[in-house]
Amino acid sequence: MKISIEQIKKEKTVVLNYEDEQFKNKNLRYQTKDALQVSITLSLAGTENVRIKGEITGKFCLICDRCCSEFIEDKKFCFDEIMELEQKEIVEHVIDVDSKIKEIVIMNFPMKILCSSQCKGICQGCGVNLNQEECKCKK
Ligand SMILES: [Zn+2]
Ligand SMILES: [Zn+2]
Repeated sequence: MKISIEQIKKEKTVVLNYEDEQFKNKNLRYQTKDALQVSITLSLAGTENVRIKGEITGKFCLICDRCCSEFIEDKKFCFDEIMELEQKEIVEHVIDVDSKIKEIVIMNFPMKILCSSQCKGICQGCGVNLNQEECKCKK
């Protein structure tokens, strides 16, 4: 979705379902399961920045960094960010809302993805998933 800069001189609230191919990329650490629900308010901040506040919710397919199992998690990101407009956006007087949504999700996603805070991971010795099986190393 693109909207003109003119429209965010005051405040503009945008509510949309956001689906993006990038989040379906198998190489990514997280992929969306369904469209994300986006509810944001944009307002121009100075001449080269936009303030974006609101929330994004959705289901993500994730892979645990510790035990490598796949799981699905509901995420909710609440944010209030000042973001720079790109040169292209300033020149064309149009803001690319999709790319901002994408950036916000990437910025807010935790560095470490765990299926549970109690995840026991994989044994370095025998390779079993310690959440499901007993370690076979011990005699
Ligand atoms: Zn895990
Ligand atoms: Zn083991």
